[in-house]
Amino acid sequence: MGRIQSIQSFSTLDGPGTRCVVFFQGCPVGCLFCHNPESWDAEGGENIDPEDLLLRLERFRPFLQAPPGLTITGGEPLFQPEFALKLANSAKKQGWHVALDTSGWGPTDAFLAVVENVDLVMFSIKHPLNPKLLSRLELEQTLANWKSLALLKVPVWLRYVLIKNWTGQHETLRALGKLAKGLPNLEKIEIFPYNSLAESNWKALHWDSPIFHQNPPAVTEEEIKEAELIVKEASGLLDEVFSNHTNA
Ligand code: SF4
Repeated sequence: MGRIQSIQSFSTLDGPGTRCVVFFQGCPVGCLFCHNPESWDAEGGENIDPEDLLLRLERFRPFLQAPPGLTITGGEPLFQPEFALKLANSAKKQGWHVALDTSGWGPTDAFLAVVENVDLVMFSIKHPLNPKLLSRLELEQTLANWKSLALLKVPVWLRYVLIKNWTGQHETLRALGKLAKGLPNLEKIEIFPYNSLAESNWKALHWDSPIFHQNPPAVTEEEIKEAELIVKEASGLLDEVFSNHTNA
């Protein structure tokens, strides 16, 4: 059994093709810019058996391109590694293309046990030099998990949220590019703008974040392109690797 927050029956933004998205409940990462803080509570959401969850997902298969995609996200899916593994394995047996969207949280053995069994890893690096600045992630653990991906054949997409004065400094972006350079199975880099919905979602919970007190924390399309250029130069990767998400 595991806990989920919700299911999205159709998405084109969470991996290749068309996909169902399952949001796992529970996240210990505590990102200051999280736009889904309701997913943090490990006791919230719905308790469900992975096979029952898959039966629910099967209802949406006729509306998806082949092969149907399933993205496991959250919350932090690796907070429930056994549940994530069971769902991924069962879905793959039924012909689903399974992507895992993770912050790289947790010990490397538990991380590898899940990522070895999916078709795509979407790894959100919160900060390549000091993730503690805006989350509870340890740099050493995050880097160990990131580097462990190089031992696998699974394709990896690197995801990054650009937030002025927090993750957008040139030095920080160059460090991100260097991390990207070191991973031979890296397929794509997606740089997203800060999602301003975060503030209203936190306010609904009567929470506050130092990020909201910047004026304004949002970034422009030009700033995303500039960030991509810095990462590109530091990584030596080709244009095709970069995917612009200014409208995401
Ligand atoms: S890892 Fe994702 S769900 Fe968890 S706090 Fe960060 S942004 Fe929110």
